[in-house]
Amino acid sequence: MPILVMKFGGTSVATLDRIRRAAKRVGVEVAKGYDVIVIVSAMSGKTNELVGWVGETSPLYDAREYDAVVSSGENVTAGLMALTLQEMDVPARSWQGWQVPLRTNSAHGSARIDEIPPENILRKFGEGMRVAVVAGFQGVSPEGRITTLGRGGSDTTAVAFAAAFDAERCDIYTDVDGVYTTDPRICDKARKLDRIAFEEMLELASLGAKVLQTRSVELAMRYKVRLRVLSSFEEQSDEAGTLVCAEEDIVESNVVAGVAYSRDEAKMTLISVADRPGIAAAIFGPLADAGVNVDMIVQNISEDGRTDMTFSCPVDQVPRAEKAMEDAKAGGEINYHDLVADTGVCKVSVVGIGMRSHAGVAAQMFQALKNENINIKVITTSEIKISVLIDRRYMELAVQALHDSFGLDKAA
Ligand code: ADP
Ligand code: ASP
Ligand code: MG
Repeated sequence: MPILVMKFGGTSVATLDRIRRAAKRVGVEVAKGYDVIVIVSAMSGKTNELVGWVGETSPLYDAREYDAVVSSGENVTAGLMALTLQEMDVPARSWQGWQVPLRTNSAHGSARIDEIPPENILRKFGEGMRVAVVAGFQGVSPEGRITTLGRGGSDTTAVAFAAAFDAERCDIYTDVDGVYTTDPRICDKARKLDRIAFEEMLELASLGAKVLQTRSVELAMRYKVRLRVLSSFEEQSDEAGTLVCAEEDIVESNVVAGVAYSRDEAKMTLISVADRPGIAAAIFGPLADAGVNVDMIVQNISEDGRTDMTFSCPVDQVPRAEKAMEDAKAGGEINYHDLVADTGVCKVSVVGIGMRSHAGVAAQMFQALKNENINIKVITTSEIKISVLIDRRYMELAVQALHDSFGLDKAA
């Protein structure tokens, strides 16, 4: 029988009632003749609570135990979903990551999936089971320990299952009815897209649009998974939601497809470092070793052989970045006058494959920000995106202004 993957995010399984509603959706697909793999998240808020408990217990926690704790939210919803389906007379069974097994590497907290052998679940389908309910977000390392795939990782579980089982489609059920031109929670003019290209979705996700985890989009692109985002709160037709698909499958599109933001960024400036060969390596090597995810980098013009070096990173990594720099200074690898952390910034980006062939997008972006009197602190660009670092208090305003400026409320 054809296989369908259906993933339900945290808000879609937040209460027993919502689990029942989701199970009904699954029942509809089973009645159509599909064998279904359901991927569930933890109930909304649960993972945050578990992460908080770990931090309170042990600030510099052992990542293996972090995973043991934070993966548990999904175990509860997987069992409850299987029970709910059984109550509806749908033959269902729950699976934790290790039981499948979903094999990952040992990078606890943000593990990568190595393989999902389909035999165990396929055998159960062969014996009459119609729904395999799999706990999202979790796997098992080569050492036999539980791992997790990073926040939002159930999306990646879903796409990986769709690829491993050659599913007809991977449906991501969430609390919005598709992918929008920007987060509908901060811009009422945001417009739902019927289709979006993999490349654009990949950029939007990695620049902060949390509707899909970045790795899930990477996987879908690589394995050509038919990936759809839709609402678990509305009655659905086969055409509902947003299809994430190849560029060739999109007929008309705007130059800019969407606007993304990342709220909690920090801008770090090393004042007066020696401008000599190897200085960047001496700074960014220790930062990488300390696990700091450096994003933007700017080196200023040097005077008298000294220069300022600016980089951005997630705000919660500032203490780690500061420690890495202080240690490198104490060790004599680098010398700087001061390290200034600006922890009140955010990143706003515009994304669109149309930028490859259209000049003037950056100029239009900067003009729109100027019209709102928003100062730009750092700029970076790539072929299909432009990002700026600005004061966090202007984030919503900037997103709305850019959305208006590029006419994203109107279809192409
Ligand atoms: P789930 O718990 O179902 O995985 P998430 O909270 O992870 O849901 O992702 C859905 C949220 O993503 C939406 O509620 C919305 O606020 C946010 N979001 C950000 N950018 C976008 C966008 N461009 N389109 C749709 N949703 C977006
Ligand atoms: N429950 C996990 C999280 O909140 C994984 C997910 O929902 O995708 O990050
Ligand atoms: Mg999510």
